Amino acid sequence: MGKPTGFMEFERVEEAYEPVEARLKHYKEFVITLSDDEAKTQGARCMDCGIPFCNNGCPVNNIIPDWNDLVYKGNWKQALDVLHSTNNFPDFTGRICPAPCEAACTLGINAAPVGIKSIEHAIIDKGWDMGWVVPQPASVKTGKKVAIVGSGPAGLAAAQQLARVGHDVTVFEKSSRLGGLLGFGIPDFKLNKTVIDRRVSQMQAEGVNFRTKVIIGDKHVPAGINNDATTVIPAEQLKKDFDAVILAAGSEVPRDLPVPGRQLKGIYAALEFLIPQNKEVQQGLTNPINVEGKHVVVIGGGDTGSDCVGTSYRQGAASVTQFELMPAPPEQEDKPLVWPYWPLKMRTSSSHKEGETKREFAVATKEFIDDGEGNVKALRAVRVEWKDGKMIEVAGSEFEIPCDAAFLAMGFTNPVGSLLDAFGVERDARNNAKATTDGEGCYHTNVNGVFAAGDVRRGQSLVVWAIREGRQAAREVDAFLMGDSILPR
Ligand SMILES: Cc1cc2nc3c(=O)[nH]c(=O)nc-3n(C[C@H](O)[C@H](O)[C@H](O)COP(=O)(O)OP(=O)(O)OC[C@H]3O[C@@H](n4cnc5c(N)ncnc54)[C@H](O)[C@@H]3O)c2cc1C
Ligand code: SF4
Repeated sequence: MGKPTGFMEFERVEEAYEPVEARLKHYKEFVITLSDDEAKTQGARCMDCGIPFCNNGCPVNNIIPDWNDLVYKGNWKQALDVLHSTNNFPDFTGRICPAPCEAACTLGINAAPVGIKSIEHAIIDKGWDMGWVVPQPASVKTGKKVAIVGSGPAGLAAAQQLARVGHDVTVFEKSSRLGGLLGFGIPDFKLNKTVIDRRVSQMQAEGVNFRTKVIIGDKHVPAGINNDATTVIPAEQLKKDFDAVILAAGSEVPRDLPVPGRQLKGIYAALEFLIPQNKEVQQGLTNPINVEGKHVVVIGGGDTGSDCVGTSYRQGAASVTQFELMPAPPEQEDKPLVWPYWPLKMRTSSSHKEGETKREFAVATKEFIDDGEGNVKALRAVRVEWKDGKMIEVAGSEFEIPCDAAFLAMGFTNPVGSLLDAFGVERDARNNAKATTDGEGCYHTNVNGVFAAGDVRRGQSLVVWAIREGRQAAREVDAFLMGDSILPR
């Protein structure tokens, strides 16, 4: 513990943002990393409590008190080593993790929690600036070949772990760029894509082979799911050519809203809007959806909805309204009741504050209304109440709002089934790839040598959980191939 009285002396300092007016003119990251001195002071707020609940709250079990202390003492290089010992990509999580660790921070019981995520961000950005993040190629090769389907955080974490213990790893990706939802999906203003590209370069130097525009299994994917593939490799071929396969293909099927008028022009699944915007920013391809001067309604909260809000403001939307089916959560959580768990509370993202976002809670969409030419012009909704887990419409509460574009951001139901079918992988009750995470044979599907990790197994989740699963699955694959593994779980 660097400074025993730090938590009493110093206030929490948040990372600063570029002003709204300036950041709406571009799609670049706008968060300003803490200075070295600020990070040190924030590190000094850590109490190094006997039981570090933050370490348990973090899905990759980052050893947070240790790097807080090291940053406070100015041992940045060592802090980076400790951080990398549990997390392959703190540059991703330091930017876009919702930080469940901070909800579990003991200081958070009666004061503002330690700014763990901002310290993590400062450590990894300094690591890159100082040239400390270098390839770590294996000294001995095993001659075993592993195929990974999908280049999201689960696939990348698994690939890096397996390459570092000497396996020949190939990552197959159907998109034209690597990174999974981090590459195409999450806007550049939340995660600059050079952050992914420099990791890919590091991994290439570690021996990982990447193949983009290659789809594994069936070449057909449901409408609305990104597919840039020009090559198809059947599942049987992959199983024959490799000693083990990890399915890290995400959960891509969007939840739909089958109400009257859904077929009208101007109503899109969120990623039909966000992915082309990524392609416009990164590859110069024009996004066919432009909401300049339009009234936008985003249906669904969460990160995806919020990213539609921020992108709409950057395109110059006339207004943005966001609907949420559930009632408004409390502004502040009931700490004694929920700590150290992730609390239900009102979450306002930076995107919400980029305009006068109207947020409507406990509202259900009834119908999209036609302008007479097949375009959506308005949306009819009704207020709802929840009783005993059941949704009841409030009589007489129907209302209509103008809507020239609607984005459906109600989550993703399951992975693309044809991929699982192609491998003969059993599904769980929610149609995800069936595999456990603990005990013998974990991450192993019912098909010998075929493993599953990340959203394809657990359902729609978070980057930090995908990294955890990728790391843990890599250990199981290594043990499957070699009889034992030195990789950490
Ligand atoms: C808009 C949006 C915003 C989000 N914001 C956040 C956030 O701020 N913080 C956070 O923690 N999480 C966020 N998430 C969730 C997070 O992105 C995911 O949980 C995470 O990316 C899952 O990682 P994954 O590796 O399991 O799968 P994915 O990232 O989905 O990657 C799977 C990859 O597999 C590829 N693939 C699929 N099938 C095949 C096939 N047959 N052949 C070849 N390739 C295939 C796909 O093209 C994709 O690139 C967000 C999600 C969305 C949609
Ligand atoms: S990865 Fe997320 S939960 Fe873990 S320490 Fe970083 S911000 Fe916290």
